[in-house]
Amino acid sequence: MAIQSVNPVNGKMIKKYSSHTPAQVLKKIGQTHKAWQSWKLTTLQERAACLKNISSVLYKQRDELAKLMALEMGKPLKAGIAEIEKCAVACDYYAQHSEEFLKDEFIKTDASKSFATFEPLGVVLAIMPWNFPFWQVFRFLAPALMAGNCGLLKHASNVPGCALAIENIINEAGLPKFVFQTLLISGEEVASVIENPMIKAVTLTGSTEAGMKVASKAASLIKKTVLELGGSDPYIILEDADLELAATTCVESRLINSGQSCIAAKRFIPVKAIEKEFIALFKEKMLAKVMGDPLEEGTDIGPQARADLRDQLHEQVTKSIEAGAKCIIGGKVPAGKNAFYPPTILTNIKKGMPAFDEELFGPVASIIPAKNEEEAIKIANDSTFGLGAAVFTRDLKRGEGIAKQLDAGSCFINELVKSDPRLPFGGIKQSGYGRELGSFGIREFVNIKTIYVK
Ligand code: NAP
Repeated sequence: MAIQSVNPVNGKMIKKYSSHTPAQVLKKIGQTHKAWQSWKLTTLQERAACLKNISSVLYKQRDELAKLMALEMGKPLKAGIAEIEKCAVACDYYAQHSEEFLKDEFIKTDASKSFATFEPLGVVLAIMPWNFPFWQVFRFLAPALMAGNCGLLKHASNVPGCALAIENIINEAGLPKFVFQTLLISGEEVASVIENPMIKAVTLTGSTEAGMKVASKAASLIKKTVLELGGSDPYIILEDADLELAATTCVESRLINSGQSCIAAKRFIPVKAIEKEFIALFKEKMLAKVMGDPLEEGTDIGPQARADLRDQLHEQVTKSIEAGAKCIIGGKVPAGKNAFYPPTILTNIKKGMPAFDEELFGPVASIIPAKNEEEAIKIANDSTFGLGAAVFTRDLKRGEGIAKQLDAGSCFINELVKSDPRLPFGGIKQSGYGRELGSFGIREFVNIKTIYVK
């Protein structure tokens, strides 16, 4: 079977890749497992030098990698360059800090000496989505390699070029052969990879549905998983907020990656007192964004990554409108063989509509006003998801108090939710479990071994 990449700007096929056969997959698992036997014995200094090389290669190739993303999944060039630079920063960060994160932790007991030490698990299977085709992989891979693990990547089927480019980057950086490899396989073939005893753990970034399937399979074999899944992040705008800042930040967050980000703001909850003013500002700023060819410099919003995903999004919008939502901008599919969808705002949103209950993975904002702060928190928490959340208020103490009441893995005050190599990242509820990044991320795939000396 072949895997192909298709340009979402015009529906044209870019390239066809032959999938790996089951025999090739078995061979690759064996090669990476063998590579791990040596990699686990390398020192942290040796691994850090490798990560610094990866970072240099990323900086060197950033323009061509950004172009590859633009072609395969429609990311505007400037956003693509920023993504590659962020991957390089994460590699440098873990190169610099892993020694501190992984040093033995001495714990006083009745022993003459007792401590926890952090040992690698082995080959980790990473199942990744197309929306940040490099960042999602590197935020797993940089700490995994530093901890002494090796990686196999099953990337989303629409970004095979990016998947293979990552393998090339690792090779070009001079890492030992096979410590990281890409598997060109379909989602259905993942179960048999998880079954392989040489696969020790699995990380998945993707939809809640895929997370459930992969986690059940891994759990049946007692293999550890980290799940970074969907989100429907609520942004609360209070009466004392800087509305200009709130509207600008809300638009920026909703339209990150043409609306296709797990931590994009999806539900906007202004309190009644400023509802009208906020919506007017928000609408003006949404309309000012330029949708177009991701290869052109002035483009803010590219196409959606695939036409079928755009159609799914439009169906969620249509169903919400049929159930009583009002569409104040956008909401129409542009003509032609492409995957574009315009910035869209829906108001009159009620529970039971897709725009309230589901993740809208595209540039569609759901506005759900609240009477006051208390009701805003209630609406924000009325979701099956719990990834990120934000609050806008000039009273920072009040903001912190609200942040503590929101059901989310991250809560930002007067800023959009974003990942940062220094901060833990992850969700609760159906947004997943486990953490990536920071000191927490590097300890997900390690054996926290207790050593006790009488
Ligand atoms: P997806 O359809 O779940 O795909 C993600 C990955 O899982 C792909 O590699 C996909 O492969 C694979 N996959 C799908 N079904 C599978 C199955 N039954 N068994 C094994 N693997 C399977 O998600 P997507 O459309 O690519 O990405 C969008 C979703 O990811 C959104 O829900 C978004 O919120 C979430 N996301 C979460 C985070 C986070 O950090 N929390 C970050 C980014 C994205 P194929 O392509 O071959 O199907």
